Amino acid sequence: MQVPILTYHGNGIDGVDYHNNDHVALAADLELIHQMGFQIISLSQLLEWRLGRLPDSAVEQAVVLTCDDGSWFDYYDVDHPHYGNQTSFFNILKNHQTKHQQLVHISNFVIVSPDARKILDEKCLIGQGWWTDEWWYDAQNSGLMSIENHSWDHNHGVLDNNNINDDTFACIDNQSACDIQIRQSQQHIKTHFEGRHQAEYFAYPYGNYSDYLRHQYLPEYGHQLGLKAALTTEPKHVNLNSDIWALPRYVCNNDWQSAAELRIILTAEM
Ligand SMILES: [Zn+2]
Repeated sequence: MQVPILTYHGNGIDGVDYHNNDHVALAADLELIHQMGFQIISLSQLLEWRLGRLPDSAVEQAVVLTCDDGSWFDYYDVDHPHYGNQTSFFNILKNHQTKHQQLVHISNFVIVSPDARKILDEKCLIGQGWWTDEWWYDAQNSGLMSIENHSWDHNHGVLDNNNINDDTFACIDNQSACDIQIRQSQQHIKTHFEGRHQAEYFAYPYGNYSDYLRHQYLPEYGHQLGLKAALTTEPKHVNLNSDIWALPRYVCNNDWQSAAELRIILTAEM
């Protein structure tokens, strides 16, 4: 028995077609998932199974949905300057649930630092204030989208952080750097939700990591920080032997670029 985790990026909009727009892709993929008779389970259900607390039957023909970075495109419909109105991931899921009466859930790995998001909004989006966090509460309370930890600032190359290797997380390789990126984020999310929600999952920015973070810091401090598992972008299914600090997942428009290619992933040998 094995289950794929699928990953989408709300900011992934470079056109209006499946292969260049993750919103178009998500809507098409949900139709495929429904047509194929697959269920959408939450990351927590998957982990319960991985830990032996749920039977195989609970994850039969199942997928887990995740999205990364946590901008407005995940939650609000936004008028894109070039490609028209974009239905948010949240509304795509809600529409799908209404249309097919299918249970839906997505784990949203957000960039936690408000200051980093402000800079990223200016440098990576178009400076319209589309990377705020006032929607986290409603998203979490909806039961449809949970807010999870994608690090303090993504160690993003556009920030003034001496990320000389440009877009890697592998240089977060000592306790103080990990505390800033992970512990601080866990505390910030908990405070944001006034203690009523804390992130239980961490997704490695860029999918990569240092040996220290993956093999020492998370195994040693992860549970204490409220984390249950961490996710990479290694394109494989999760099975009963998957390491909880390196659960693999597939990335849309990287590991598959059409519904036909997703079908191949979903029908991979069980
Ligand atoms: Zn990311």
